[in-house]
Amino acid sequence: METSNNSEDLLAKSVDELGFDPEVLRNKYRQERDKRLRVDGNDQYVEVTGEYSHFVDDPYIETPVIREPLSDEVDVIVIGGGFGGLLTGARLRQAGVANIRLVEKGGNFGGTWYWNRYPGAACDIESYVYLPLLEEMGFVPERKFIDGKDILAYSQSIAKKFDLYDNACLQTEVTETRWDESIQRWIVSTNRGDQMKARFICMSNGPLHRPKLPGIPGIDTFKGHTFHTSRWDYQYTGGSAEGNLSGLKDKRVGVIGTGATAVQCVPHLGASAQQLYVFQRTPSSVDFRNDPPTDKKWFNSQEPGWHQHRMDNFNILVSGGYAEEDLVNDGWTDIIRNLLLLVQTRKDSGMSPEALAELAEIADFQKMEEIRGRVETEVSDQAIAEALKPYYRQFCKRPCFHNEYLATFNRPNVLLVDTKGRGVEQITEKGVMVDGVEYELDCLVFATGFEVGTGYVRRSGYDVVGHDGITLSDKWSERVSSLHGMHTRGFPNCFILGNIQAGFTANYPHALNEEAKHISYIVSHVMDNDLNSVEASAQAESDWVETIIDYSQFNEKFLEDCTPGYYNGEGKSKERLRQHNNYGKGSEAFFERMREWRSAGDLSGLEVK
Ligand code: NDP
Repeated sequence: METSNNSEDLLAKSVDELGFDPEVLRNKYRQERDKRLRVDGNDQYVEVTGEYSHFVDDPYIETPVIREPLSDEVDVIVIGGGFGGLLTGARLRQAGVANIRLVEKGGNFGGTWYWNRYPGAACDIESYVYLPLLEEMGFVPERKFIDGKDILAYSQSIAKKFDLYDNACLQTEVTETRWDESIQRWIVSTNRGDQMKARFICMSNGPLHRPKLPGIPGIDTFKGHTFHTSRWDYQYTGGSAEGNLSGLKDKRVGVIGTGATAVQCVPHLGASAQQLYVFQRTPSSVDFRNDPPTDKKWFNSQEPGWHQHRMDNFNILVSGGYAEEDLVNDGWTDIIRNLLLLVQTRKDSGMSPEALAELAEIADFQKMEEIRGRVETEVSDQAIAEALKPYYRQFCKRPCFHNEYLATFNRPNVLLVDTKGRGVEQITEKGVMVDGVEYELDCLVFATGFEVGTGYVRRSGYDVVGHDGITLSDKWSERVSSLHGMHTRGFPNCFILGNIQAGFTANYPHALNEEAKHISYIVSHVMDNDLNSVEASAQAESDWVETIIDYSQFNEKFLEDCTPGYYNGEGKSKERLRQHNNYGKGSEAFFERMREWRSAGDLSGLEVK
């Protein structure tokens, strides 16, 4: 595969040839990061409990479920009805496990896409690799990038196809799961008084599912209307995920946050509100989004196995590996061509790791100059354009792709209120204060994201009690410890879907699919061989933690230099424990390792009863 830029002599180029001075940019990045570093890190956010719990009420339920509590028994309870839960259900069905129950707190399946219905919600990972089970489902996405509402419908069609609505408990929140050693079963308690039994539990709670609110002084005093983007209030705003928010035509609206969510909903707010104020702490990098309709002839001519092949190809490239061809060929793989392939091709040339790192940095500067140049072209007021330019390395925050976001700031009714890295200073009864100016609002939207670095049990909302009364909250209070990220000792027949101590990829459903295959292999093995339980051995778990620690140094320096965000523990990457990382050799290597583990067939590292 060709590199997309003239990478060969990047290091030898002069400032004039490059068009920027690396040292100047390095300093600028450092200054911008330092402005944003804060002592409270993750503690700057308030938890959505108590007086804030209404922020997580489900606005999408059409018919409330009324039912008697359950105390029956199934083989597997899967907690979470997003892609992780659906894939686990589908893979278990394919492995012949019939007696399954999915438990989901929302009113329907869909996970992320059930909750995130804000105007403009869409996925900017290519639909032909993002949507799982495409071949099994025989589904043809309309476009290269698919809208949130179509992903939601697709999620629910997976549930139908694999009969996952049968026996499911929707609108049901797990409050505790407890292993009963005497009967070798899990007892799953819920907010509906259920006490269900299961041989196995699979927990797929979602990595970004618990909304977070900024701990801005006065947040509880605002008298206007307010909600979080993941609980969009269409009753108030009118319109739909396509926009046309007619309820806002005489409203002054404020939005706090300028991450990937805001980038998608701000153009709709700008088009509909009488006045929109966008309160920015750190600008996102916003690249062009090339979204052609699907060429049906091309799609239908794909050979069996194409989907896995395409997912692997994308994943190899975005994980920094080398592939002969770039099938997806979009903004994500372009970044990788620019940054990582460049490094890859130089690895064999005897360059020192330091020179390779410098080369990657220069390529990153080049890409980000392009992104900053795009802001200048799109935004007519040059002071606003300057404020919208991101000064950090592209993978410090999630890259965004949008064709209308930047131009929205040319509208006369839209004002960017740049807090220059400090964040909003106060919320009042009437609105939002920045630099001593009060912006009066009728409605305040929090596009402030989701908890990431907080404890697993706090985020999942229920504790897991293993044998001898050990709780997951205790076991993981200081340090996460697992085998393959999916098992943890003390908790037999319990599986965790996620990315801590496992493979992480930008294409998250891909990782969930691999974990679902892995888990269904183990569950069916235990059931087919009439075994009672499997549990990580102490030795295997501690070896795995060592592996995670060993490989974690690969991107430590990179994260430390980054502007704060959830990728680097809000600027506290040094304090973050190495063992809280993903598998450092990359997700492809992790999936391969799991495939090899399964083909060995000996359940190595698991104690079998
Ligand atoms: P993020 O965590 O990415 O963004 C939160 C925003 O809130 C940031 O801009 C943050 O600023 C800002 N913020 C927090 N506190 C304050 C404050 N006190 N004052 C002012 N601003 C504040 O959440 P998102 O919901 O945008 O995105 C979460 C993730 O969801 C993404 O990273 C992505 O993985 C996924 N996603 C994917 C999409 C896609 O496929 N296109 C679309 C939407 C989401 P700062 O940066 O300074 O911390």
